[in-house]
Amino acid sequence: MKVLKFGGTSVGSAARMQKLLDIINPQERQIVVLSAMSGTTNNLVEIGQAYLTNDKAKAASLIAILKDKYEAVIKELLKKPETFEQGKEVIDYHFRLLSSFANDLFTPIEDKIILAQGELLSTTLYHIYLKEIGVPSVLLPALDFMKTDEDSEPIVDHITTELTPLLDKHPDVNLFITQGFICRNAFGEIDNLRRGGSDYTASLIGAGIRSEEVQIWTDIDGMHNNDPRIVSNTKPIAQLSFDEAAELAYFGAKILHPQSVFPAQKYKIPVRLLNTMDPQAAGTLITNTSETDKIKSIAAKDGITAVKIQSSRMLLAHGFLRRVFEVFERYRTSIDMITTSEVAVSLTIDDTTYLGEITTELGAYGSVDIDVNHTIICVVGDFGAEKHGYAARVLEAVKHIPVRMISYGGSDHNMSLLVKTEDKVEVLRSLHSRLF
Ligand code: ASP
Ligand code: MG
Repeated sequence: MKVLKFGGTSVGSAARMQKLLDIINPQERQIVVLSAMSGTTNNLVEIGQAYLTNDKAKAASLIAILKDKYEAVIKELLKKPETFEQGKEVIDYHFRLLSSFANDLFTPIEDKIILAQGELLSTTLYHIYLKEIGVPSVLLPALDFMKTDEDSEPIVDHITTELTPLLDKHPDVNLFITQGFICRNAFGEIDNLRRGGSDYTASLIGAGIRSEEVQIWTDIDGMHNNDPRIVSNTKPIAQLSFDEAAELAYFGAKILHPQSVFPAQKYKIPVRLLNTMDPQAAGTLITNTSETDKIKSIAAKDGITAVKIQSSRMLLAHGFLRRVFEVFERYRTSIDMITTSEVAVSLTIDDTTYLGEITTELGAYGSVDIDVNHTIICVVGDFGAEKHGYAARVLEAVKHIPVRMISYGGSDHNMSLLVKTEDKVEVLRSLHSRLF
């Protein structure tokens, strides 16, 4: 059984929803995971924000605008009076719920309920559409099988035990529809897998039911070997290993939610990235194996801050790095890149919420320098320890650019450079023309 996930733009209008059956083959048994219609989750975030700041008038007007949009969608999507009425009831139900929070105490718990409405709307409306055109399908509530534990980690075994019987109940149905992104947390409350989390849902379901394949359908023909918005002549990468895909997803390739690689990797479920606008294109296949001895792709992550701690006390001392790392841990700030010398350590963070506090505490261990507006350039491929020449090729390509940090050898698949964001475009282009 395959799992197919369609992102926000793939269900972004009535016309796009109607086109999905060009891709979904109703003769094959499969689970279809849908995101919210594009823009909706952003709108829901704004509505939640308005409630959190007690701006009820703003919440009401945002809700009204969004409701109009959905009413326009069903006018186009649902042509029969009976199904149109059902669509109307669904919209009324969800928007009444959104409005009802004006009367209650509003906390992050209610905020998460608001965020869940986008996927609930898109899947329910699509299910009604399938009914209208006579394609049998079953709507599976993700809240019944998608669950996270106390550490907000999704529980794959829970999917296996809860989803399998739901599927077995319908031996004659091929098409199952469910919501991406949403889940219940350890307290049983409605929660989510964080922004972009529908990919993660698909991978988790794939792992939970030991699916033959997970397909992530978006609006680009797979992962590209560089950022197509910046570099011309980028190409889709035909094949990647899970490790390579994880590095790329984390360092900037927006097409895939970074965590979504891991469940598929653990259960060896192939993941295919495919293009709704060009369904015949080969896309990118992510599996356990991949072409070796090759540079595959370049990605960039902006908004990086470098922190340097310099101390003669680091020389020959043990426990120095632990104390430094503990400061970041106390402020729940994750570190991306690290380089060390005998008397200094430089590392990078992207979340600067607690930078002031962190800088003050690090001051106890040495002098601290902060460099903002940097970009991590990440070169991904297969170049393990026994290979040679890759670092030289990368550095040769950027020899005219100041490089703040270099990280190589952390894994067999990654070499990262930290450069000023103003140099990013030149670095990406220069690497592209010299490496591919
Ligand atoms: N709708 C959610 C978001 O916009 C999840 C997703 O689309 O993957 O973040
Ligand atoms: Mg996405």
